[in-house]
Amino acid sequence: MSNSIYPWQEAAWSQLQQLRSRMPHAILFHGAAGTGKADFIETFAQALLCENGRPDGHACGTCVSCGWFSQHNHPDYRRVRPESFEDEAPEGEEGTDGEGKKAKASKTPSKEIKIEQIRNLADFMNISTHRQGLRVVVVYPAEALNTPASNALLKTLEEPPPGTVFLLSSNSLDRLLPTILSRCRKFALPMPDHAQAAAWLKAQGLADADSWLREQGGAPLAALAQSETGNRDEMETLLQLLAHPSVDGALKTADKLSKTPLSSVVSWQQRWLYDVFSYKLSGSIRYFPRYQKELAALAGKVHTSNLLRAIKGANARRATADHPLSPKLFLEDLLLDYTTCCT
Ligand SMILES: [Zn+2]
Repeated sequence: MSNSIYPWQEAAWSQLQQLRSRMPHAILFHGAAGTGKADFIETFAQALLCENGRPDGHACGTCVSCGWFSQHNHPDYRRVRPESFEDEAPEGEEGTDGEGKKAKASKTPSKEIKIEQIRNLADFMNISTHRQGLRVVVVYPAEALNTPASNALLKTLEEPPPGTVFLLSSNSLDRLLPTILSRCRKFALPMPDHAQAAAWLKAQGLADADSWLREQGGAPLAALAQSETGNRDEMETLLQLLAHPSVDGALKTADKLSKTPLSSVVSWQQRWLYDVFSYKLSGSIRYFPRYQKELAALAGKVHTSNLLRAIKGANARRATADHPLSPKLFLEDLLLDYTTCCT
């Protein structure tokens, strides 16, 4: 965890400092996935705990508190995330440091924040702080809280323990309980503009930053994560089929992609359909400008009602992509359905 924020977050950082004289007990940071919100709130958490904060609001990086923070054992700090975040970065969000690794090789790590994780905060909040300062709890992504966990957190937010600050982060506010929203001060984190994000990616050593960025809808950390997962060839395989749909091609592609994470395949297809639809409506392309010719051809040929059906089909499958009975059957169904809609 570095004591820094991303270039596109500078203005938000300054704005946030103005809240510190009267800190709300809960702040809900929101913005697009893959733009660095988790790093931002962890940096802010460290700054709140730092005993020798700098004038620009950043932590000093050298005090006892900062030392504990960087070792992930600050006694007045807790981080609550889904189990699945502990071993690998989820799609579109960053933050891997192996903290809290436990022996759980046999089962799939949960993608939800569970009630036990919220209950475990009780002891933490009932003892006095170690450094006589604030106690900070970071929760992300807030939409991963399942219903019992949301309700447990809500109880805490309704009667906030003194000296405790909750920092939540969310990619989609509409997936949170309205009661949670109403208990938090909302704070928007920005999406970088394209040039700024591309410059940042180039500085990370990413060749072809522009394409990666477009394919991730302009979210730089998502672009970086995607470039590192090595699924580029698989994405091209899929795009080739989507550009030239056929029954035979759909079956072959399903076979080739059966080892690729299904949620990635569905998400590439969703973006592709978005581009076809957007081209049809306004002649603009957001994700795959290098396929301009093919997108234009499809947009001219496919009837809107068929296109909407394909979009609906892809959206519905996104929800089940994590637990398919058979990856290959799942893909055949997805791609044949697309082929039927778009030929
Ligand atoms: Zn410090």
